Amino acid sequence: MLIGCIEAGGTKFVCGVCDERGQILDRTQFPTLAPNETMENVNNYFSKKSINAIGLGCFGPIDLKLTSKTYGFIKNTPKESWKNYNILGYLKKKFNVPIGFDTDVNSAALGEAHYGAAKGLQNVLYITIGTGIGAGVLVEGNLLHGMLHPEMGHILIRRHPDDDFEGICPYHKDCIEGLASGKSIETRYNKKAQYLTDDSVWKLEAYYIAQALMNYILILSPEKIIIGGGVSKQKKLLKYVRVYVKQFLNDYINTNELKDLEHYIVNPQLGDNAGLIGAFVLGLNALNEHN
Ligand code: ADP
Ligand code: ZN
Repeated sequence: MLIGCIEAGGTKFVCGVCDERGQILDRTQFPTLAPNETMENVNNYFSKKSINAIGLGCFGPIDLKLTSKTYGFIKNTPKESWKNYNILGYLKKKFNVPIGFDTDVNSAALGEAHYGAAKGLQNVLYITIGTGIGAGVLVEGNLLHGMLHPEMGHILIRRHPDDDFEGICPYHKDCIEGLASGKSIETRYNKKAQYLTDDSVWKLEAYYIAQALMNYILILSPEKIIIGGGVSKQKKLLKYVRVYVKQFLNDYINTNELKDLEHYIVNPQLGDNAGLIGAFVLGLNALNEHN
């Protein structure tokens, strides 16, 4: 049995094929161009493989409401050509197999909860700090959707008293994405995040990320927090984030998890495959529901 896995990101699409145990047998990636070109690449890749199901973790916002007329559409994205694009509809037309569909970050949370750093846990938060910021969450074993799906990259946080950078979010300016995403770091310092080594850069970044995590901890009560995305590759970041999370929570909560922040706030164990393996779980679930 083969599952086709798609991690549809705003910068690149990663496609792969997994066996029933989640072993990646093959993978490829291509840049996210206009929908027609990109989806043709997806189609060409999978049409040569005999897949039994597909899992799609997709950048958003996306419509996940089964009863909605636009279920499976990408909604109001800043990527103009993808606005109101029926990505699920395209795959359904091309492939007559069950398809599981969720956000890219929910998919990564699911992957880590089944096969990675949060294996076996029912309450897991996955946050990606890349070009933008987004987070997905498993609550009591279910991926949280609700009205739309969480958009945790746009919460408001307290500004550092010495920070006068206005923020880059086109909607809110200084939400967490506006102040702490990879794109905001690059705009603030006029240099890409991977070339910034100064402690002050990473302390400020951690100051903001830790505030967001504190809010997520207090609202969602996750048993594990996984931080992925390009910016999380900076080794100092998680170290400082843990220090600030401890300081901000100020012993208000005393769980075993919070006493051991080293194991509570971690990088993805699946590395760059978290999204792909999550898509595998989405595909497998869709196949099981169908049978
Ligand atoms: P995307 O979010 O576009 O899918 P990534 O998750 O790879 O892609 O994130 C890209 C961001 O990560 C860029 O802003 C880049 O500057 C930043 N980045 C990449 N590598 C590092 C690194 N080693 N340390 C800090 N930031 C990094
Ligand atoms: Zn915002």
